[in-house]
Amino acid sequence: MKIKVCTGCHLPKTIDLFHKNKARYDGLSNYCKSCQSSRLKIFRSKNIEKLRTNSNNYYKHSKALILLKQKKYRRDNKEKIALRMSKYYLLTKPERVKTNKSWKAKNQEYIKDYNVRYGANPETVAKKRIYQVKNKDRIRAAAKVWMDNNPGKNAQYKNNRRHRVPPWITESMQVKIDFFYWLAKTVTKIFGVPHRVDHFIPLKGKLVSGLHVPSNLQVITEKANAEKSNKFTPTVETVIDGKLVLQGV
Ligand SMILES: [Zn+2]
Repeated sequence: MKIKVCTGCHLPKTIDLFHKNKARYDGLSNYCKSCQSSRLKIFRSKNIEKLRTNSNNYYKHSKALILLKQKKYRRDNKEKIALRMSKYYLLTKPERVKTNKSWKAKNQEYIKDYNVRYGANPETVAKKRIYQVKNKDRIRAAAKVWMDNNPGKNAQYKNNRRHRVPPWITESMQVKIDFFYWLAKTVTKIFGVPHRVDHFIPLKGKLVSGLHVPSNLQVITEKANAEKSNKFTPTVETVIDGKLVLQGV
């Protein structure tokens, strides 16, 4: 094996003890491996700050570049990405439904508490209502898409619509509705005076129609119910300056 003299330690060493360096005339480094490594260590300790900034700069630079590339990819492949995401969504749907169900079953107390705290919170209710009024068309369009995709549930929905049950009816709302009917029956039995569940805003009004929801229900006597009809003055909800305002029609 060939011998080469190291520029660092000035010792003659076999060439396998030198790193390769294409820039040199013989294709080998002038320093032997051990000298090279100690030189590198010294260089590193002397220039630690500079090296750190360099690598930081490199990271920052390539990060920006990566982000740019990703942005371009997203822009150029919108349809491909959407397709991939919808495939993933459908693929993971059964698992998600299962997880949600088991979570709900395990956290019933929490959900009940949450609904009491936020469902009955006037501020939350008002916010929700403002959103619904503002996004009426969008919500309607989304509901139509949902109905087209769920033909079985569509029949149920149509039945609900005939009876003015909104699609966003919740289980807790249904419980409250049942309570009104129970109350009417019980009061009728106890006092011997016929009572009925009445809709504040009639379900089939001349100008506006109310909904079959707890907030639109009351228990009154059958007599009052008969007298009440047609006395309702309709109002419309509009959003003015971010606030929900009732206006007479
Ligand atoms: Zn050496």
